[in-house]
Amino acid sequence: MPPHILDGKKIALQKQATMATIIQNYNLQALPPHLAIIQVGDDTASHIYIKNKTKACKKIGIKTTEIYHTHISENKLYKIINELNEDPTIHGIIVQLPLPKNINPENILHKIHPAKDVDGFHFKNYGRLSFKLPTHVPATPLGILEMIHIHKIETKGKHCVIIGNSKIVGAPLGILMQHLQATVTICHIHTNDLTHFTKQADILISAVGKPGLITQKMVKKGVVIFDVGTTFVTDNHTISKYTLKGDVIFEEVSPICSAITPVPGGVGPMTVTALMHNTLRAAQGQVYTLQKNQTKIFKGY
Ligand code: NAD
Repeated sequence: MPPHILDGKKIALQKQATMATIIQNYNLQALPPHLAIIQVGDDTASHIYIKNKTKACKKIGIKTTEIYHTHISENKLYKIINELNEDPTIHGIIVQLPLPKNINPENILHKIHPAKDVDGFHFKNYGRLSFKLPTHVPATPLGILEMIHIHKIETKGKHCVIIGNSKIVGAPLGILMQHLQATVTICHIHTNDLTHFTKQADILISAVGKPGLITQKMVKKGVVIFDVGTTFVTDNHTISKYTLKGDVIFEEVSPICSAITPVPGGVGPMTVTALMHNTLRAAQGQVYTLQKNQTKIFKGY
């Protein structure tokens, strides 16, 4: 049987249409959901990610304000965040990573007010996630959970192997997959014999950023794969002169999978949509009031 291609773009567009209706119906236009995006430095990939985020937000009625600095001190950045924290018209704040070397992300990300921390990187939100309390779930893990939910992928008792233990993807995903009753293994750069673990995976999530890392001989037949990796690779055959590559060699691995996300068009669009979802919830003031079992746009968590 050919693998089921987990089409993130299609689900993302459906979710975005639902959110657009909610924004209209709730008559939020008077004070539209408003996301502030801060970029420091000149990272090319960050420019592209921010462009994608603002375009998607505008389409459904989420206002965005972009604050861009090539160079800035940690103190000055802290002041900008404080102003945004106190601005009642701003509902969500994100600081695009990576930051330049003169700024320690740990010093900055925890300065965003937890209710406006729509990336879910503040320690308070991370703690709430650990305790299964309503919170802003980081966007990429939330997008993956939604795909798991929509495609009814069994997680209970399954072995989920996550490659990458970053605070934005791998580590929170590990917690969330345990919440879904999976047996979780987290691998990283210091893992010896990666194949030993990937071979055991019923669900494999690769979040590394190394095209070609996952080959056919590293996975078992019937595995479900979420390829989070996104690496811009030079490609003179395209107008943009680059192409986006995942961690998995799609052509050779997909034939033996039961389901797999493509790159692009898999996890990426779901990540952007999850960020919009978090911003909408922040605007509705739901984050710390949402009760378990209350209707949510994202059902995965
Ligand atoms: P990161 O650099 O913070 O983390 C990379 C992780 O990979 C680390 O845990 C590291 O230990 C591990 N690693 C590195 N080399 C390895 C190897 N050879 N074997 C096993 N583990 C190895 O990166 P990140 O921010 O978590 O992002 C990871 C990838 O996911 C990047 O390509 C990034 O662009 C992509 N990403 C995509 C989305 C999306 O929406 N699709 C969102 C976030 C990140």
